[in-house]
Amino acid sequence: MYRTHTCGELRLGHCGGEATLAGWVQRVRDLGGMLFIDLRDRYGITQLVTDGNTPGEIREQASRLGRESVVQVRGTVRERSNKNRNLPTGDVEVTLSALRVLSAAALPPFTIQNDSDGGDDLRMKYRYLDLRRPVLQQNLMLRAQMAQSARTWLSAQGFIEVETPVLIRSTPEGARDFVVPSRMNPGEFYALPQSPQILKQLLMVAGFDKYFQIVKCFRDEDLRSDRQPEFTQIDCEMSFVEQEDVLNTFEGLTRQLFREVKGVETGSFPRMPYSEALALYGSDKPDLRFGMPLADVSENVRGKGFPVFDGAAYTGGICVEGCAGYSRKQLDELTEWVKRPQIGARGLVWIKLNSDGSLRSSIDKYFNEEELKDIAFHFRASTGDLILLLSGDVCKTRNALGQLRLEMGNRLGLRAKESFRPLWVVDFPLLEWDDEARRWSAMHHPFTSPKPEDIPLLESNPGQVRANAYDLVINGVEIGGGSVRIHDPALQSAMFKVLGFTPDQAEMQFGFLMNAFRYGAPPHAGIAFGFDRMVSLFAGLDSIRDVIAFPKNNAGRDMMNDAPSPLPQEQLAELSIAVRPAAGS
Ligand code: ASP
Repeated sequence: MYRTHTCGELRLGHCGGEATLAGWVQRVRDLGGMLFIDLRDRYGITQLVTDGNTPGEIREQASRLGRESVVQVRGTVRERSNKNRNLPTGDVEVTLSALRVLSAAALPPFTIQNDSDGGDDLRMKYRYLDLRRPVLQQNLMLRAQMAQSARTWLSAQGFIEVETPVLIRSTPEGARDFVVPSRMNPGEFYALPQSPQILKQLLMVAGFDKYFQIVKCFRDEDLRSDRQPEFTQIDCEMSFVEQEDVLNTFEGLTRQLFREVKGVETGSFPRMPYSEALALYGSDKPDLRFGMPLADVSENVRGKGFPVFDGAAYTGGICVEGCAGYSRKQLDELTEWVKRPQIGARGLVWIKLNSDGSLRSSIDKYFNEEELKDIAFHFRASTGDLILLLSGDVCKTRNALGQLRLEMGNRLGLRAKESFRPLWVVDFPLLEWDDEARRWSAMHHPFTSPKPEDIPLLESNPGQVRANAYDLVINGVEIGGGSVRIHDPALQSAMFKVLGFTPDQAEMQFGFLMNAFRYGAPPHAGIAFGFDRMVSLFAGLDSIRDVIAFPKNNAGRDMMNDAPSPLPQEQLAELSIAVRPAAGS
């Protein structure tokens, strides 16, 4: 038996007994008379000690132990004279009577403790060492707990877990596919699923009624802190349901996860139409942890002779409570901030409601105090507040204001990690105009159903058609999204037509789905949660990397095993992939 206890287990009650432990040497402190070793495993840290009674050779061996070596030790548990209140095992220590080195460690490239001294790249290269750090171990344990909890809840609601294939035919979800050459079918390729969308719809046609899967999806997109080329979804689909049923079911799942994993009661989730989210928060994923909504003052500021406002389709702003005291320097700095290319505003107008009751602004030349008051009224601003205005094109300006709002929320500490404000954003547009391709594309995906009352607009005014599509947004992060699906082959054909597919192209790409719909398709709807994002939200992290065991870097590389890598020519030839001429030939 390698161990009788784990390194997180021993307490005062074990004193006087023998224990055998195994783990990694975190640290050795040699104080001459006494020598202490911190022994670590997944469960915790236990202090080992040698003193005057320890046999000389064990004392000698212990003093030579390198950090991160794997050892097995035996000894007697005793109460510590110097207790460590920060460790669950901090009341006790084990006096060594036997020590066996199971595996000696080379000097690790960085320190293995919560605040490591290793840089990002180094820690990615030695991910297996980074993963020894307790913070990362806790993230992965949280992930496992959430997956387990979701599985249990969904199974209890009658959802059936079905595995769908990883080698499939490409399904458009708006990103590029990763492809896999087929050796047995020269010149042909599988795609890795961007999501199991069509497959789960076919499971509904097959009568499974309620499906879920915790599933890897693959999208070849540019990477950001919340995107990885492969990521995990909790993917779900239900038959004989309407949008309301889906929202209620998955609100139930989300609330259960908050309750069970975080001990948080979120209450029921508000529902906000997409158009309202854009108008009030400048984003389709509003962060509701704080207010500071946008107000549109286009009409109030036009015609006062200020050319910027007069020429703009939209002028709007936010009211930042209690910030009238901002200095010239702070305002200049904010102006620079909104002018950064990522935000793209051309300038920033400010109005201060000073504590003496006066109003001052950067547009005093054009607006008298009464006119400024009229603007302030639209923001329900009070003494001490600062109003910030941007103007320009409607979409871009709202977006810039949305980002400015988040920035001010950060500066004022209004975005606490442990506060959770979920909502459903509903009534998304069905289509968006793709400027580059000069055609309409599906905002969610081509299988999303238009709202029945908007179907007549499909041909005449496609941009106005709203979809039965919804997103779950928590703290400004899109955590899940889904839609009611089209289950009528005629409507699906009409949709493909709007999306610019000829009947032949539609037949070639989606013929099997259309065919399936001819054999009796139930009305169905579903959703997928971005599981990595959900875990990182629960863990209070900004990046999804640290909730993934072996993530890729921003260039899509696995730094540890150095993938992707070139293939030998023979392997390429076997896959009928053009072989590069050998160097020098
Ligand atoms: N397949 C969709 C996605 O991956 C989710 C859904 O519509 O169920 O975003």
